[in-house]
Amino acid sequence: MKDRIEVVVGDITQMQVDAIVNAANTSLLGGGGVDGAIHRAAGPELKEECRKLGGCPTGEAKITRGYRLPCRWVIHAVGPVWHGGTQGEEELLASCYRRALELAEEHGVRSIAFPAISTGAYRFPKDRAARIAVREIRCFLEAHPTIEKVFLVAFDEEMRGFYEKALEDEGLLRAKNDRDT
Ligand code: ADP
Repeated sequence: MKDRIEVVVGDITQMQVDAIVNAANTSLLGGGGVDGAIHRAAGPELKEECRKLGGCPTGEAKITRGYRLPCRWVIHAVGPVWHGGTQGEEELLASCYRRALELAEEHGVRSIAFPAISTGAYRFPKDRAARIAVREIRCFLEAHPTIEKVFLVAFDEEMRGFYEKALEDEGLLRAKNDRDT
């Protein structure tokens, strides 16, 4: 399991994987942050396909092709806006990860990269989001061997630290010399 979940710092649009996950909004018509970066890198055909999907509820996900991106698929997951934690935000975020992984599996994806859904404009606390991501991904991978590799893409060192702490708490952090080889 330690080898199947890896933290990287960088731009998710550059990832050489079968699928990347987008932190989308319910319209699926694009926005700022990682959503904007994915749409810019994929080209206008992505928005065309998204338009046909008719939106997506919070906590759910939908899949499209990747167009000009290196990945074959983009899985658009809609995370919750953080309202203090009293409106089911944690369960909705967990649901996003589960639904994205289910769609990936259904499409034969073997490698997938996630951004830190909801931790930007949607203000979900980053440490909690990291713990939820690690827990849900671990749980799914334990039951589904076809997904070989999941990358947690941190956009900055602060987020990398939260992911590493969450992995460490689950006994999943690879030793430094493992990572360098
Ligand atoms: P949300 O609306 O779900 O909060 P954002 O796009 O605002 O989505 O932020 C989600 C996370 O994605 C943030 O941690 C942000 O730093 C990160 N992010 C922004 N651009 C990129 C990118 N190109 N690659 C990976 N992560 C990114």
